[in-house]
Amino acid sequence: MTKKVLIARSAGFCFGVKRAIAIADETAGKRGTGDGREGPIQSLGPIIHNPQAVGRLQEKGVRVVETVDDISCGKVIVRSHGVTRSDRAALEGKEGVTIVDATCPFVTKAQEHARTLSRNGYAVVVVGDPNHPEVKSIISYIDKGVPVFTSIAEVKAAKGVRKAGIVAQTTQSFENLMAFVAAAMKRFPEVRVFNTICNATALRQQESTGLAGIADVMFVLGGYNSANTRRLAEICKAINPRTHHIETEGELAPSMVEGASVAGVTAGASTPQWIIDGFLERLKGIWKCDRIEVSFYR
Ligand code: SF4
Repeated sequence: MTKKVLIARSAGFCFGVKRAIAIADETAGKRGTGDGREGPIQSLGPIIHNPQAVGRLQEKGVRVVETVDDISCGKVIVRSHGVTRSDRAALEGKEGVTIVDATCPFVTKAQEHARTLSRNGYAVVVVGDPNHPEVKSIISYIDKGVPVFTSIAEVKAAKGVRKAGIVAQTTQSFENLMAFVAAAMKRFPEVRVFNTICNATALRQQESTGLAGIADVMFVLGGYNSANTRRLAEICKAINPRTHHIETEGELAPSMVEGASVAGVTAGASTPQWIIDGFLERLKGIWKCDRIEVSFYR
């Protein structure tokens, strides 16, 4: 019997991650073409939340450092989440350090809106996880002394604020943004909203939801440390209990596909194509069939 694999059309790298990896690859590729004094290539935090992709970059000479203090020379790649204003200033102040900026343009836009709002007298509501590096970077662009709110409870408790502007972490859901908008409109006489959500996350979730509903078994590929991949796995599991979140094809066991003839595959925004390809190859081997029909699902 022909086995079928349906792959979510958006599975894998989003625009910003693809761009960041290309920038890192290009930077690593230029190594040794200078005067020999260019120093190490570092990324401030892992470029993406995928251990295998970070491992490959490490082999090419891009090492991960955790803080600005760990950098004294060479090139530093700023990942797609962006960096706080103070970290950027500290890096710019280091002699012999060159910044290679891979901040996703959508994140830059959210930073700019936050700064402009604060400079125009608006308190700023940032919809997102305050501990996430992207949200920390957005907040850092708000001028000192301007009230900042990151929860609906804080918005409801705000006092003496006449106008507020809202920006969102790029991966937030539209529903959550709207809940903040509703709370802000009840609290402040003037509210400005910038919809800074990027549709990469919503698109992956929509496609994966549809796929999980029709597949016999569902696979979500990507780093265990990737929040968007874990969320995809949760969403798929709620629809299809036979959902497996795995990082690489090595974790694909024959028992996972036993009795199944349609496998659905999706992958987080930080999962490289070669991980998806490796998974398909292994699945072909397990199913031992000459022909696996592979189609894209939207
Ligand atoms: S999810 Fe959207 S904002 Fe985030 S890196 Fe990807 S394209 Fe950029």
